[in-house]
Amino acid sequence: MTVGAFGVRDEPMRKHTSLHIGGPADVFVTVASERDLVGAIGVAREHELPVFMLGGGTNLLVSDRGIRGVVLQNNWNETSVEGFVITAASGTPMASVAAVAARNGILGLEWMATVPGTVGGAVHGNAGAFGSETKDVLVDADLMDLNGGRWSRGVAELGYAYRTSSLQGTPAIVVRARFRGTSGDRETAVRRIKEIANERMAKQPLAQPNTGSIFRNPPGDHAGRLIEAAGLKGATVGGAMVSTKHANFIVNVGDASANDVRDLMRRCQRDVKQRFGVELIPEVELVGEWE
Ligand SMILES: Cc1cc2nc3c(=O)[nH]c(=O)nc-3n(C[C@H](O)[C@H](O)[C@H](O)COP(=O)(O)OP(=O)(O)OC[C@H]3O[C@@H](n4cnc5c(N)ncnc54)[C@H](O)[C@@H]3O)c2cc1C
Repeated sequence: MTVGAFGVRDEPMRKHTSLHIGGPADVFVTVASERDLVGAIGVAREHELPVFMLGGGTNLLVSDRGIRGVVLQNNWNETSVEGFVITAASGTPMASVAAVAARNGILGLEWMATVPGTVGGAVHGNAGAFGSETKDVLVDADLMDLNGGRWSRGVAELGYAYRTSSLQGTPAIVVRARFRGTSGDRETAVRRIKEIANERMAKQPLAQPNTGSIFRNPPGDHAGRLIEAAGLKGATVGGAMVSTKHANFIVNVGDASANDVRDLMRRCQRDVKQRFGVELIPEVELVGEWE
């Protein structure tokens, strides 16, 4: 691996994903400020390289062949508070937004404490947990395109629905976002954060590399219930296994390849479709170069 003037070459993406899976990124650049972010996008544009925006890598299945072009890892972590509104840079961990809210006696953002990943990833995919979603607390987001164009969008203009937004499938980059909570007190927020953290630990296989829910819940049902009812708890392909703790999690129990995970996902989809006639839609995003 050589370090050039611009980023690191052939960086293994498995080092940067919660599943610990993924082939090389051609060029890997870490940004830690708005200036870094804008500058890196400018350099990519000059070299006509495609850009993939990486947050925490917690909702990704990166192919074994890796990602062509530039991967921009967003470590820009910055928050400010005005009244009940928190402005957060897109690389801020969701857990930090929850902590800042709690510290300032702002309620309604506690659920963010246990959603892994960054503000950018959450705004992009409408992350949510424990009955709340990003769209419920987002005020607006500052966005940017690969030509350096900048604009803002209010929450109503971002096409939000369950785990989807109009940003998906577009090159729009989330620069920062504003979230609104309500008046409260620190103790209540901290107590709620502890409760949801305990609930998560009891139900989810957090000790094994995973990427959260593999499939979206179909309307009125749970993907995990369907996968378990299809007899797939503990099923394996290579080093990938349907978690024995929560069937909507696929865990990396050995040296799972991206193909192992994809094949196990296909098996879940096929068996659930055959048994129950339900189409499971991936929540995890498959990225990179696939065969
Ligand atoms: C243990 C575990 C539990 C989880 N629980 C939940 C849960 O309860 N609820 C939930 O919704 N999700 C959950 N997830 C999934 C994941 O945490 C969320 O989807 C999260 O929002 C992904 O954020 P990220 O920063 O890691 O994004 P990444 O995985 O890095 O990227 C996901 C997508 O967002 C895009 N993206 C990232 N940053 C930006 C940006 N600045 N601008 C534009 N696009 C960007 C990427 O390009 C990619 O398309 C869980 C994951 C794990 C590992």
